[in-house]
Amino acid sequence: MTAQNIQTFRGVLLDQMTIDALLLAEQLAGLGQFPIMQGSFTQGAVSASAGTHDGGGAIDVGIHSGDDPWDVQVTKVRSLRQAGFAAWRRTPPAFPYHIHAILIADPWVSPGAAEQIDQWHQHLNGLAGHGPDDDPVDVEAGRPSVVTTPPPAPRPNRRKLDEEVV
Ligand SMILES: [Zn+2]
Repeated sequence: MTAQNIQTFRGVLLDQMTIDALLLAEQLAGLGQFPIMQGSFTQGAVSASAGTHDGGGAIDVGIHSGDDPWDVQVTKVRSLRQAGFAAWRRTPPAFPYHIHAILIADPWVSPGAAEQIDQWHQHLNGLAGHGPDDDPVDVEAGRPSVVTTPPPAPRPNRRKLDEEVV
């Protein structure tokens, strides 16, 4: 097994394989460094969290408070998925704009994150409601190909999502 080697990276805690995967995603995206909103090993510091960031492999990538152009958001999600993350955009009103990502191969993920990986394999969105993965891009065989048009405005009655806050 790879050494875990937890370290501070750009101000957050990450293990080495998550850092490596993040750097690969950034290289694939070609957009420079991704803004990191939250890392791994938060140990429940986020009180409303279901603990998906309490173990390894977890990272939240900013999409500039929703100001990223649509194609930039898509590129970020795609590159994270290509680099081995279960990655989903999280959007208002339930969340601030960001991409929540769990490194699928990381053996140190928290139980909550492991449940999200299970959802990933079922093409679900990793949230408490077990909704479909409705992100616009997916690189796994048999999943929808890239959608190039922006989504409709957020649904006003969108299900309240309570599994994570950031
Ligand atoms: Zn997250």
